[in-house]
Amino acid sequence: MKPVISVRDLEEMVRNGKDARSLPEDALLTPSARDFLRDLEGTGNLKSPRADAGRSTAPATPVTSRSSRAEIEAFFNSPKIHALKLQICEIGRRLWQRAYVDGNGGNIAVRVSEDLVLCTPTLVSKGFMKPEDTCFVDLEGNQFCGTKKRTSEILMHLQIMKRQPRAVATVHCHPPYATGFAVAGVEPPTCMIPEFEVFASVAIAPYRTPGTPEMGKLVADLVDQHNTILMANHGVVTWSHNDVEDAYFKMEILEAYCRTVLVATQLGKPVNTMTAAQLQDLLKIKQSLGIPDPRFGLKECELCDNEGWRPGVTCAVAGPGDGSAAAAGAPDPEAEKLVQAITEQIMSSQR
Ligand SMILES: [Zn+2]
Repeated sequence: MKPVISVRDLEEMVRNGKDARSLPEDALLTPSARDFLRDLEGTGNLKSPRADAGRSTAPATPVTSRSSRAEIEAFFNSPKIHALKLQICEIGRRLWQRAYVDGNGGNIAVRVSEDLVLCTPTLVSKGFMKPEDTCFVDLEGNQFCGTKKRTSEILMHLQIMKRQPRAVATVHCHPPYATGFAVAGVEPPTCMIPEFEVFASVAIAPYRTPGTPEMGKLVADLVDQHNTILMANHGVVTWSHNDVEDAYFKMEILEAYCRTVLVATQLGKPVNTMTAAQLQDLLKIKQSLGIPDPRFGLKECELCDNEGWRPGVTCAVAGPGDGSAAAAGAPDPEAEKLVQAITEQIMSSQR
């Protein structure tokens, strides 16, 4: 079988200092991998064009937590990190403007070298951060730079980064619709909107006290195959292998999706879903973009399975032994049968 090379493979090669153009003769390139190679030829060097634009946070710098204090401090105050600080403030503003954060809630982290992470401070509204509010921490959460104290929830971001080496940026916030799904313990159904299928891979982590190592571990357990984690009774955290804006985009996509699903299920009609074959096409695109998904490689009949998701509220028919039913008058067996039949029909058409 011919090897299929994605842009993710090429980025990996560049990151490891290998020549991304030394591929096997028979290698098949995905469209984005072909574009990536064309960019490389254009720049005449082996560095990722993204890194040139200051967007990628792939460890291109040798500064680590083991460097001298002065070196770390200089790195923290460098133009490259300043650009990222501004980007974090900008994303914070968007989170606040869209009401994805409340009070001092939410936090953002960007990995800037092998084990240094730029993150948001505690006790500051994400809508009004200044570049100098940000902090430098290592992967254990020890703070190196910044006048404000780092967020306590950074431990969760760091656990994601440790478990998922491709995660260069993480965003956590409390968007109301998606958080509503997290509170109800309902995983958003699938096969409804292409954008959501291509860019987000959702899972739910159980509730634990925010900021505890245990919470971080439960989230980290899911980031191998998911980039968007609903945290039960709390909020959402996303990670990206590209940059912080991309991690934020997943939040927008998820929140818009949850809102749309809620509207669709209130219109009194069974919702339409795409076919498994149509989803398969989207999953191919997703794979070529280097986005994880546990459904890669599944058979078509296994896709679009929304087992466990039931839209709306169904009328419960009281059982014969239910005292409250007797108080309200005994249910009519004919009517009960009819309600049951209609409910089943609706349910089966939505599966
Ligand atoms: Zn939170």
